[in-house]
Amino acid sequence: MPDTSQTYVAALADLFYPQRCVGCDRRASGVLCRVCFEALPRMGSPVCGRCGLPTAFETFVCEECKNVDFGFESARAPLKYAGVGKEIVYSLKYRGYKRVVERLAVPLMLEVLDDVHFDAVVPVPLHRSRLRKRGFNQAELLARGVAGKINATVSDTLEVVRSTRDQVELSAAQRRANVAGAYSARDPLFGRILLVDDVFTTGATMSACAGTLVRAGAREVHALSLCRTV
Ligand SMILES: [Zn+2]
Ligand SMILES: [Zn+2]
Repeated sequence: MPDTSQTYVAALADLFYPQRCVGCDRRASGVLCRVCFEALPRMGSPVCGRCGLPTAFETFVCEECKNVDFGFESARAPLKYAGVGKEIVYSLKYRGYKRVVERLAVPLMLEVLDDVHFDAVVPVPLHRSRLRKRGFNQAELLARGVAGKINATVSDTLEVVRSTRDQVELSAAQRRANVAGAYSARDPLFGRILLVDDVFTTGATMSACAGTLVRAGAREVHALSLCRTV
């Protein structure tokens, strides 16, 4: 069970401080002030059809990912994990602002989806102890927001079965080893799945989750995050 007092505090904060820009904390009429909105670190196009990195021309696979084995078919993110993008993730992760999800994150994420037909939307799960501490899973908030707009159901089939180290200091290879076998699917799945997280760094977490979903019966998995490191 999530810590309800924390979700309650987040909801209260949402009520009483709705007029602050999540990018710079100055007074604003929306979730972002005009300056921060214009400074959104958009990924732009074209991007690699597979890993979502910006590329010089349209391509199905880029130099960065051609030798990487991903469990997903494609990965997309509307923002680079920098500047205002980082501030938005921070506001989701530590405050769980619902209005940021609804008014900003979800519309941006929908912009980069080429095809919105999915049989289910699956959030990258948090380990139980982290969920207890935070009170909510920011990936689930995003997944619910996206699912609501594309008429898909949210599946909570994925769970963390082994706790992983904080990945911040780890290399790409260490990250893959760190998350190998960390996830499990409670129920079988089918069809086309949209896997959602807040940040895509090396793709190790998304890839491990996607592999688990494919073994549970998914035909294909597409990854969608709000931000991506470039
Ligand atoms: Zn601002
Ligand atoms: Zn690529």
